[in-house]
Amino acid sequence: MGLNVKVLDRGKNYIKLLFEGVPLPLLNAVRRAALAEVPTMAVDEVIFVDNTSALYDEIIAHRLGMIPLTSDEALGKYKMPEECIGSTEVEGCYAVLTLDVSAKDEVLTVYSRDLTSQDPDVRPVSPDIPIAVLAPGQRLAFEARARLGRGREHIKWSPSTVATVTYLAKVSLNRSRCTLCGKCVEVCPRGVLKLVKDHVEVDEGKCILCRQCVKVCDYDAIDLSWYEDKYILYIESSGALKPERILSEALKIIVNKLQIIHNELNKLGSVGGS
Ligand code: SF4
Ligand code: SF4
Repeated sequence: MGLNVKVLDRGKNYIKLLFEGVPLPLLNAVRRAALAEVPTMAVDEVIFVDNTSALYDEIIAHRLGMIPLTSDEALGKYKMPEECIGSTEVEGCYAVLTLDVSAKDEVLTVYSRDLTSQDPDVRPVSPDIPIAVLAPGQRLAFEARARLGRGREHIKWSPSTVATVTYLAKVSLNRSRCTLCGKCVEVCPRGVLKLVKDHVEVDEGKCILCRQCVKVCDYDAIDLSWYEDKYILYIESSGALKPERILSEALKIIVNKLQIIHNELNKLGSVGGS
């Protein structure tokens, strides 16, 4: 069977691909690697200099960890987690972000934009993430250290907010039954169906198989099922890595793992043959 890949949709933070002739378990492996194996940068240690806010240090440290940090450049720049966990060495392992904010006469909200990163390649994806609210006279000052990690260690390192594999929907309309009443077009939440002159046009790639169209059709003119060998892989990024990068890193990880298995099997083969 021929292999075919098509981009159905692509945005700044997401990619939707249609695969034909690719086994479902392989796509599922890509999905899992995109969630749990592809490394990104996230804050892992915080040294507090001063915290007179109403929040405990631990709460603020947790919030800092959950702020997505840009990681595209960091992947080639920082050491892998296994080389850094437990190490006191900052160089090559950690990107340092600092903050020192005081509220004077008014209540002040501290945002991710107030963090100063020593590495311009590792900075908050969004400047508008709130960290803490300071009452007049309160101060928050710390040094945060971010390192590479993987989603399987903690979700804060996962580059993907969504990674799914779904069947491609098969939406069949029986033209002899359809009265072109348009009810299905109105009810469809994804704009899959469109009424044109003498028939209903279908964009199957957008269908989420919610069955609303089937329920609303009084003439039993719609049949919903799915294609057996066509799958849609959807990856949404936290912004830490571009969606295409998540995909290519996930594939690299799978290929490396297969290579390790291959090498081990080769060794067994040579042992058996000797
Ligand atoms: S609801 Fe049924 S009859 Fe009406 S346009 Fe859709 S398919 Fe045709
Ligand atoms: S199943 Fe849902 S998404 Fe698909 S065509 Fe029908 S109404 Fe639209």
